[in-house]
Amino acid sequence: MFRYDAVIVGAGFAGAVTARCLAEAGWQVLILEQREHIGGNAYDKTDEAGILVQLYGPHIYHTKEEEVHRFLSRFTKWHDYRHEVVANIHGKLIPVPFNLNTLELVYGKEEAAVLEKKLVDAFGYGTKVPILKLREHPEPAIREIADYVYENIFLRYTMKQWGQTPEEIDPAVTGRVPVVLSRDNRYFADTWQGMPEHGFTALFEKMLSHENITIRLGCRAQEVLTLSGEGGIRVRQEGLEEEYTGIVVYTGPVDELFDYRFGHLPYRTLNFVWERYNQTEYQTHAVVNYTVEEEYTRITEFKKFYDGAEAFPQTTVIKEYPGAYEPGKGQIPYYAIINEENNRQYERYQTLAGRYPGLFLLGRLAEYKYYNMDAITKRALELSKSLIRKEAEK
Ligand code: FAD
Ligand code: UDP
Repeated sequence: MFRYDAVIVGAGFAGAVTARCLAEAGWQVLILEQREHIGGNAYDKTDEAGILVQLYGPHIYHTKEEEVHRFLSRFTKWHDYRHEVVANIHGKLIPVPFNLNTLELVYGKEEAAVLEKKLVDAFGYGTKVPILKLREHPEPAIREIADYVYENIFLRYTMKQWGQTPEEIDPAVTGRVPVVLSRDNRYFADTWQGMPEHGFTALFEKMLSHENITIRLGCRAQEVLTLSGEGGIRVRQEGLEEEYTGIVVYTGPVDELFDYRFGHLPYRTLNFVWERYNQTEYQTHAVVNYTVEEEYTRITEFKKFYDGAEAFPQTTVIKEYPGAYEPGKGQIPYYAIINEENNRQYERYQTLAGRYPGLFLLGRLAEYKYYNMDAITKRALELSKSLIRKEAEK
């Protein structure tokens, strides 16, 4: 007998948060995770140099959602890390997002004071202006700043990351890193930010440690679940197959779930090149963006996310090389490429999924969205509440 009330595919933020909420409501939950570890793309571990590294690229926690923060804080304390990024422009390091400190570094004190007044008069002190909006401003001096920022911070980085110009991609993407009219050098402006005290994997271990949660690692969903043509779901266990009337929350790529019936959804992937140096420090900041030169977009030096970096004689860094995701080559689909055409293709899959009353799509891949960790946590909390409510009403 298959005894689970819910099967959750994927042990990243989407799957783990949902699993914990349903388990606390008394549901028996089975998690199927194809990787050999929990945590999804937020997974981290200690490397040979003793440094906590994140295998799927740098992840920094930040949120303005109180409910999200309260929920995640049940499973970790937070290391008070303040994320400041610099862009390397022909060897010169300037703060990103571009802000009034950056303005001064680029234009010098005197000229920057004049330009600052123009910017603040136009938009107000403390505002955040997307680069594409700044470029449309009628005042030539403001457009000149916008052109500098566009050329030196956005154009080449975006070409590397997306293979397209800032105009060609969804404006919300470059809008994530607006020009900031204040002297705040932080990358994120959210109320709560930092790193989990003992890392993301430790946070996940605690969140998933519940008597009602069973985890199967190294298990692709397709080994256990089959979607039948008529909106039914079947499960396989120990050679027996039976109809399943519980809930399935799927957090993997939706095109894969339906055998690419409507074609492959486009994604961007990342190739990480790892380097270790016999020196205590590699660069000034945890993350340095390469916005005008090099093939990689950024270098992350992991030890800088936590205190005590000097104690390690070595340092570990990764360089990120983005590229087009090619199906069937073992790459990881990291980023959905959001545009009208791709959204339409996604919607066909979504409609198909809608024919299965027990199936719920959740997460960056399943929903084909650009979610941060807190946004997907919020979605998972909402979905769990609605599932629990519906079950109670039965
Ligand atoms: P995932 O973490 O991708 O989890 C999905 C899980 O499902 C995976 O473990 C996968 O193996 C499993 N799976 C998929 N298909 C199957 C299947 N068929 N069977 C079984 N298992 C399956 N967010 C922030 O808030 N701050 C940051 O600084 C930040 N930095 C990022 C940096 C990078 C390079 C990237 C790519 C993302 C970053 N994010 C950041 C976003 C963050 O990674 C996501 O919000 C989060 O991982 C989404 O969680 P998820 O559960 O939807 O997806
Ligand atoms: N971006 C850029 N230069 C930078 C930082 C960001 O051009 O120095 C653009 C780029 O298009 C990127 C987007 O802004 O994809 C969003 O950046 P963010 O750091 O939020 O992306 P993440 O790495 O978190 O996905």
